[in-house]
Amino acid sequence: MKITDVISHQLSVNVDEPFTSSRGWFYKTKGALVVEVRTDEGITGWGDCYGPSAVCKSIVDTLLKPSIIAKDPFDVEVIWEALYNKVKDYGLTGMTISGISGVDIALWDIIGKACKQPIHKLIGGAFRTKVEAYATGLYFKNMERLNEEAAEEARGYVEQGFRALKMKIGLGSIKKDLDRVAAVRDAIGPDVKLMVDANHCFNVPQAINIGRELEKFDVRWFEEPVSPEDLDGYVEVSRRLDMAVAGGENEFTKFGFREILAKRAMDIIQPDVCAAGGITECKKIAALAQAHSVQCIPHAWGTAIGLAATIHFLASLPECPPCLVPMPPMLEYEQTFNPFRDRLSQTSLTHTKGFVDVPTAPGLGIEIDRKILDQYRVA
Ligand code: CA
Repeated sequence: MKITDVISHQLSVNVDEPFTSSRGWFYKTKGALVVEVRTDEGITGWGDCYGPSAVCKSIVDTLLKPSIIAKDPFDVEVIWEALYNKVKDYGLTGMTISGISGVDIALWDIIGKACKQPIHKLIGGAFRTKVEAYATGLYFKNMERLNEEAAEEARGYVEQGFRALKMKIGLGSIKKDLDRVAAVRDAIGPDVKLMVDANHCFNVPQAINIGRELEKFDVRWFEEPVSPEDLDGYVEVSRRLDMAVAGGENEFTKFGFREILAKRAMDIIQPDVCAAGGITECKKIAALAQAHSVQCIPHAWGTAIGLAATIHFLASLPECPPCLVPMPPMLEYEQTFNPFRDRLSQTSLTHTKGFVDVPTAPGLGIEIDRKILDQYRVA
């Protein structure tokens, strides 16, 4: 089989109700870059790149596409290494790797369709037929009623059947953050798992101070307490807190995660399949994590394609550690407005009582609705 074409679809949609995390960037539009890889046997594969879509598009179109035309999609690892080595001299992290991730996911989709097997069957099989999803939401919207809106939104997720949620913190006041976490914990009761995400807005002493208080609310993990560049800071925060410290959504490739794991800077690593190097690379990152007894619970913020790729990857992750009643890795199920997540696939990836079935159809196991690509494509 030969690759005949690579088409990148840049998508954008306006967000009616803007929201923000501690980063302070109000999301007014939502973008996506969908990669379509065509072959001479009529099989098409789909991929998804994380990050600013116009930049990813340029990387895919000008840097990656010329190198993979006429290649055999089954040579997925050979192609990965060739693309990585091509970008090596221009910076080894960030959006170039997101571009490679999108291509890699599309190649796995093609291989699965050619073999008539879902991707998880090609990467070792499924340890589970459904994955527990946690709702990611609880951003800051109405600054006048932060606690009320968080409690209402959290209650809504529990009513939908979610048994785990993640909320944003980082309001510039530890008291305000703790009041809001208390309001959410009060709204959802003691049995629903709760995680917090600071989007790296704290320095080390602030993170330790708020972390000690957060532990009283039975917070499952503290995500991105400090800046991703500050690995020594992560080591310090992780050592000083009893609760698990998570991070790594902005780290890339096995080389990037090697240092995090060797230093045991985090208790949970969160590579994004659409950013850290695709399915090929994330399997290696997960193996490195397992070798260090660190849990791998991927980050996910993309389209239905990224969601499906993440579910196959999650299905293939062994328990860490294996035991009678294990605590399997959960699926990050982002809940903000996103038609590319909800409408791009004609096959449903919705949850039932907080669990999402692992797709069993060939490849990613989803059918792309080209009408949605046409509707949201940037002219
Ligand atoms: Ca996050």
